[in-house]
Amino acid sequence: QSKEGGRNRITFFEPDMDAALRMRRSLETDLRKALANNALTMVYQPQIDHREHITAMEALVRWTHPEKGPISPTIFVPLCEETGLILDLGEFVMDRVFQETAHWLGTRVAINVSPLQLRSPMFMAMVTRLVARYNIDPSRYEIEITETALLGDDGVTRDNLLMLKQEGFTIALDDFGTGYSSLNSLKRFAVDKIKIDRSFIHNLEANDEAEALVDAIVKLGRAMKLSIVAEGVETEAQRDRLAACGCNHFQGFLVSKPVPASELNDIFFG
Ligand code: C2E
Ligand code: MG
Ligand code: MG
Ligand code: MG
Repeated sequence: QSKEGGRNRITFFEPDMDAALRMRRSLETDLRKALANNALTMVYQPQIDHREHITAMEALVRWTHPEKGPISPTIFVPLCEETGLILDLGEFVMDRVFQETAHWLGTRVAINVSPLQLRSPMFMAMVTRLVARYNIDPSRYEIEITETALLGDDGVTRDNLLMLKQEGFTIALDDFGTGYSSLNSLKRFAVDKIKIDRSFIHNLEANDEAEALVDAIVKLGRAMKLSIVAEGVETEAQRDRLAACGCNHFQGFLVSKPVPASELNDIFFG
């Protein structure tokens, strides 16, 4: 019986595993094609200060699959990281963002960069080439990295970050509070800004512990002279709690969803 059951299990699971694998492979093939055809797009989400002035726009990549429709970057960015496509994706993103925002006046633009890009010794050559091609001023651009980038650094990541700073870019640490970066690594990697992860913001209304955590992060950021922005702010109540904690920079659906550059050119036309 158990043999029978074992066989049944195998015949039951195998087609499923096949299907999952096939799905992944076909997604990878389609992503490869999309990248080769520059068929991805960028959207931009504002960050505002307490006077509701826009202080920065975060660039976020979008992929609409020809048959499956929009695929979340939380699916295809990790897929790129697993398949080696991430350097191509990273180059597409930086190229398109510089191209679309070069003429914007009066706002900073944040670009997400994968830890794997920062580990590449070729990274800075790509950046300086694109800076020259679009003649952009790096001091208007912020590079968003995650705490994962700072772990297990073999030296290349730190070199790349220091070179970015030398070029004039600022460095923001994304999803802050969810990883394991030490205060020491904030200094060591010359981070300028922290983005408080939206899980903390989400819990602000539910429990006092979240408020104590946010309060501590803000005090820490202040003491280290870092800029601080809260991400994923969806409600007035969350914004008020954040303000009470001394955090006056917000990004989230309360302010705006991410939108294509074409809808922003009127605001930032230069
Ligand atoms: P992230 O960098 O932390 O970006 C913030 C994410 O939160 C975005 O999701 C944004 O659309 C979403 N968001 C903004 N406001 C709110 C809100 O009020 N509530 C909620 N629930 N969500 C909000 P998105 O665009 O799906 O991107 C997800 C993640 O994918 C990003 O997280 C980032 O890690 C990665 N990603 C996106 N674009 C790029 C890119 O161009 N390059 C790289 N390397 N990664 C990217
Ligand atoms: Mg980000
Ligand atoms: Mg984030
Ligand atoms: Mg996030």
